[in-house]
Amino acid sequence: MKLRIVVLPGDGIGPEVTRQAVAVLQSVSDVCGYDFRFETHRVGGVAIEDDGSPLPERTLAACLEADAVLLGAVGDRKYDNCAGEKRPEAGLLALRQALGGFANLRPVQAYDAISDCSPLREEVTRGADILIVRELLGGLYFGEPRAIERNGFSAHNTMRYQADEIERVAHIAFQEAQRRRKHVTSVDKANVLETSQLWRRTVTEVSRQYPDVKLDHAYVDSFAMQVITTPTWYDVVLTENLFGDILSDEAAVISGSLGMLASATVGGKVELYEPVHGSAPDIAGRNLANPFGAIQSAALLLRYTAGLYDESDKIMQAVERTLALGLVTQDLAGRRKRPASPTDAIGQYVVETVTDTLQMHMAYHAV
Ligand code: NAD
Repeated sequence: MKLRIVVLPGDGIGPEVTRQAVAVLQSVSDVCGYDFRFETHRVGGVAIEDDGSPLPERTLAACLEADAVLLGAVGDRKYDNCAGEKRPEAGLLALRQALGGFANLRPVQAYDAISDCSPLREEVTRGADILIVRELLGGLYFGEPRAIERNGFSAHNTMRYQADEIERVAHIAFQEAQRRRKHVTSVDKANVLETSQLWRRTVTEVSRQYPDVKLDHAYVDSFAMQVITTPTWYDVVLTENLFGDILSDEAAVISGSLGMLASATVGGKVELYEPVHGSAPDIAGRNLANPFGAIQSAALLLRYTAGLYDESDKIMQAVERTLALGLVTQDLAGRRKRPASPTDAIGQYVVETVTDTLQMHMAYHAV
């Protein structure tokens, strides 16, 4: 198995967490005799600094030629007052658009070992296992026209969806549900927005091709309450770009920290993997960042790009074992007040665990 992976560490804690994810992938490659090649490029604030653009041409060209892209995070307070296209975040939006991935998959899971880290009661979160499927290339973030007018005293954005944009992401959600608990909840605001009425009608039509999957619809406002009061009720949650962005951060409280969440963006020319969190400038450069979101993004890469399900599962299991040992960063101190470990020590332990379990697995199957 050969994989060419472009690594985009980006800004803030991005380099710290992607370093751990790459080390885990390298250990899989070494133990299993695969040939994973890593090529690092700049994106975001560091790219503005060195190349004058948040997405330099060289970075984009390398990404388009890769089998997969692994990104850390972008964003730097220094650019807070800059115009849209001069900001680090513009690099990520342009990259997503160029890669063409329209379905952003965000697994949200409650981990028994750190259930005290969630502000939600343990009996509410226990067993929660949700896959949020967020449409990534349409809606308010990309709709035109958009502008700030009248000397900054007026502004508008456009929410626009075409039926085919909804259909293609709905197919992904139903196919994922077929591999899980066969339940899709589609989230919209169809009582107010025309785009949501189109969304609901289109998702319902697509659902007819998946008679084994149960579909229900929820309004985004009541869903925002129910996903944290009854998270175990949900399996696959399908929603549009803006709602998905907000709801997946909200759903992070089920896991205990935003730093736990991973994502995969699929459906385009090249798949993009990244933790859900941002560049966290408040803790950057101090070896404090939770690397599990980035490490689990690496596990998703093995699953979706390489079809290496066993290896991907071994990474997920290693994360759970690390948590069970109480080896966590400061964001997961929780009500049990666990001592904090540095980012790189946690990454190192995951690498050792993945190496050991893969070696044991291979020795067992060689007998
Ligand atoms: P953020 O996700 O960076 O941080 C929110 C809070 O969560 C902070 O307190 C931070 O310390 C904490 N946090 C985040 N990730 C963590 C981790 N791995 N371990 C421990 N704690 C973690 O969101 P923000 O503060 O709203 O944004 C900071 C910058 O990141 C902004 O410039 C924003 O535009 C950018 N951003 C980028 C992405 C991305 O690259 N995909 C996503 C969101 C925000």
